[in-house]
Amino acid sequence: MPVSGLPPYDPSNVFARILRGEIPCRKVAENDHALAFHDIAPQAPVHVLVIPKGAYVSLSDFAANATEAEIAGFWRLVGQVAKELGLEAGGYRVLSNMGVHGHQEVPHFHVHLFGGRPLGRMLP
Ligand code: C5P
Repeated sequence: MPVSGLPPYDPSNVFARILRGEIPCRKVAENDHALAFHDIAPQAPVHVLVIPKGAYVSLSDFAANATEAEIAGFWRLVGQVAKELGLEAGGYRVLSNMGVHGHQEVPHFHVHLFGGRPLGRMLP
């Protein structure tokens, strides 16, 4: 059981299928360990998802089980995308939904990167 309390990793989840090239995405950038692409239903002028290439169900699973190289590669891509999309001047938000209470819909760890307008105060 992964530490998230979610079911074990399901290789048929939509992000796994994107990683295998079985369904398309609008790619922003990638490195050895992570892929960034535009969210299919954007909630802000910039709404990018960053996902690890490894099979991790959730943030908790990734934090507990990913290698140092995977963790570094993942977070470097988040920062790189924010910079390349011009978000550093105005600021941005990074968010990860985890598990049932976090309303995580896709069971492959991902962070949302939002920007391009004032985002308001974050409420639960
Ligand atoms: O709730 P959760 O953080 O799991 O959100 C999953 C996100 O994945 C949603 O914002 C949804 O629009 C996005 N998505 C996507 N492309 C897909 C399926 C889902 O960008 N093919």
